[in-house]
This record gives sequence, C-alpha cells and structure tokens, in this order.
Amino acid sequence: MVLMDLLIRRCCSGVPRELEGVARAEGMEPERFVRRVAEGRIVVPANPAREHRRCAIGEGCTVKVNVNIGTSGSRCDPALEEEKAKAALANGADALMDLSTGGDLVAIRKKILRFDTTVGTVPVYEAVRRAGNAGDVTADLLFQVIREHCRQGVDFLTLHCGVNRQALAALRADQRLMGVVSRGGSFHCAMMMKREEENPLYAEYDYLLEILAEHDVTISLGDGMRPGCLQDAEKLAKSVEYVTLGTLAKRAQAVGVQRMIEGPGHMPLNQVGYNVRMIKEITDHAPLYLLGPLVTDIAPGYDHVVAAIGGAAACLNGADFLCMVSPSEHLALPDVADIVEGTRVAKIAAHVGDTVRKHEGWRMEREVQMAEARHELDWDEQFRLALYGDHARKIHERDGETETCSMCGDLCAVKMVNELFGTAAKDKGERK
Ligand code: SF4
Repeated sequence: MVLMDLLIRRCCSGVPRELEGVARAEGMEPERFVRRVAEGRIVVPANPAREHRRCAIGEGCTVKVNVNIGTSGSRCDPALEEEKAKAALANGADALMDLSTGGDLVAIRKKILRFDTTVGTVPVYEAVRRAGNAGDVTADLLFQVIREHCRQGVDFLTLHCGVNRQALAALRADQRLMGVVSRGGSFHCAMMMKREEENPLYAEYDYLLEILAEHDVTISLGDGMRPGCLQDAEKLAKSVEYVTLGTLAKRAQAVGVQRMIEGPGHMPLNQVGYNVRMIKEITDHAPLYLLGPLVTDIAPGYDHVVAAIGGAAACLNGADFLCMVSPSEHLALPDVADIVEGTRVAKIAAHVGDTVRKHEGWRMEREVQMAEARHELDWDEQFRLALYGDHARKIHERDGETETCSMCGDLCAVKMVNELFGTAAKDKGERK
C-alpha cells in the first residue's frame, strides 16, 4: 500500500500507528507531522519490504545526515564497506547510501540492507556496470535495475530525471569549467548523446513513478547538473535542471510518491542561501538533500570542513538532509577513519543547523547545561554533554588531568572569576 495514500486517507481518522513514534521522536505533535508528510514537506523513506528504524526528513524535523559508502572499481573490499557502515552509524549517521560500483553489487547491497537504518542507492551505477559502459545502458535495463533495488528493500533511490535534453542544451550553450561532476549526471549525458534519445527517466517518468508507488519507495531527484566548482555556480544548466525538478516533484506528489530534491553542489558561501530558498520554493518545499555545498575548491583533505560550513549555511536557509563529505573527497575512496571524521563533522553541521532552525522538538537545554558545566569546571559533565565526549576527554587529559586545563593552567579565567564573584562551582546536585 502506498504510504502517501495511506496517510492521506487516514489523516482525518487519526495518526497511522507506524508514524506516531517517528513524530514523537521529532518532538512533533503526530497530527501535525502526518499533515506535513501528506503535504510532501516531510518524507519518511521506508520500503515495506524491510523493517528498520525510520527516519523523518523535512520541515520541523532535526537535520539528518546520510553517509555514503560503497566499493569502487579500484578498491573493492565488501568487509571494509560493512565496517564503514558500522562506523557511520556508531557516530550518528541517520541513513546510509550504498554507492558500490565494484564487485558483486547485489550481494554488497544485501549486506548493507541488514543494517537497522534507512538505505538509499543510485541504480544507474549498477546499470552502467551491467551494460559495460554508460552509452550502452538501455531504458529496459535501467528500469529493470530500479525494480530490483525496490524489491530488495532500498528505501530511497537517487534518480537523475532532470538531466534531460534541455539541460544538456543549456550545458552546451553556457559552458562550464568542470563540465558535469555528478557520476549519475555524466552517465545520463553519455546515454542521451550516444543514443540521441531523451533520458528515459524523464521521458517515461510516469512509468517510473508507477514502479516507485508499487514498492512505496521514495525518489531522491538527483542533481546531475550540480556545479563542480565555484566558477560554475551561476551557469545555466543547474538552473534549468532545478526548474525541471520542480515540475517532477509536483508530479510525484500528485500520485502519492514521496520525493526529496538534491542540490546544489559547489558554490560561494553568499550563493548558498538563495539557492536553497529557490529550490525549496519551486519544489513546493520538498525536503532538500545536500552534498556540501562546497564553498571553496582549494582545501582538498579538509573538504569535510568546507562542506560543514556550506551545510550549516544551507540548513539556516531550510536544507533538511546533509550528505556527509569525508576528508578524502576528491582524493580517494574513504577509509574507516575518514568515515568517522566526516560523519562527526557533518553531524556537528546538522546540529548547528538545528540551533537556528529551532524545529518543533528543539530544546536549548543541552547548550545551557554545557555552559554551566564549563562555568563550574565540571569536566565529566562537559564530556557527557559533548557531541563526541570521548574525543574531547582525550585532548583534555593529554597534559595530565587538572582542575582547569593546560590552556591557561593556573591563570584560568573561569576559576579566577568564580572566586572573585563568589560563583565557584556549585554542588552538582543543585544544577537544573
Ligand atoms: S584554563 Fe583557560 S581555557 Fe581552560 S577552562 Fe580555564 S579559562 Fe578555559
């Protein structure tokens, strides 16, 4: 049964039991939550073929983080990908995407789908592997792979339906320094150019929606024309694709298929806000899923930090779902340490976004408690409250545990002011 139909029909008579807990976890009144799902402002990607912890993405929810894992043709170690999945979830990832392109793709996906989390994929990757090259992927093959991913239990699929002939013409008319940097985007360009045909995901979009509706799978409308460097941010192709995604989002909503929008790639910090607001506006406030945005191109090795800066700015303007960028972005396939670091930094960006979005369930308590613990020089409490307290404790203790810390030592301003004003550490029991 299609979730959206189910929700719309049951909206008047009560809240679907399966969504009540999800709503409460977001601190949202269930009736209000369900209304937003029915309006397409929140999605809960959950393929009924698989039981797992559900994750709500969208307006009024906390900002969620996806972590990409997956093999490549250069490095294929399925056990390592499982380790990366575990590391991502242990560090707070809300969803995983299996982007594998090397090895037995069905078997790898089966393993990733065993994790108790929302899982997404990009079916065109597998279609290209089966065909041998992007230009030889047929519409039949692509739809067949999409059906297989749906049947296997994938919750959301990135599908580059907006990479159509119009976007390709815009790309030619207003050439970009980096051309196309989306893997899926480049595959669809190759398919269209070799076969001299429209992208089947665009030409047969109604059929695609039928498949997704049948399996209750969420579509993530891919941004195949996202800019790949700051200089390309204002070129035509991206905007043409946005407008197409706006119409495709409406068509998905009209037939009860949950949808999210992907965007907007590399761009200067001062362009992030209006791009996010514009995408939201033209897609009827569909949940927005971001890679980055990457706000400088000259910090390889630290692109997780670059993406966190762009991501926080995007969340301030309404973005809902951040795709983790690891320190190895643009350099290599991430290892476990990259996944841990990237996930932690992305979660911090999401949290920073939450502090300004002030979603329904948002409470300032933890920030206030941390300030109190700092004021009282209560280190254990600080590590308990910290997003990644183990890491903070390790740094604090490396110079030997003290009442203050080794930054100022005996000249600790906090200690001195507490003594001066008589506000020295209170009995911990008194803290609210
Ligand atoms: S020693 Fe300096 S940095 Fe450390 S807690 Fe005191 S004031 Fe803060």
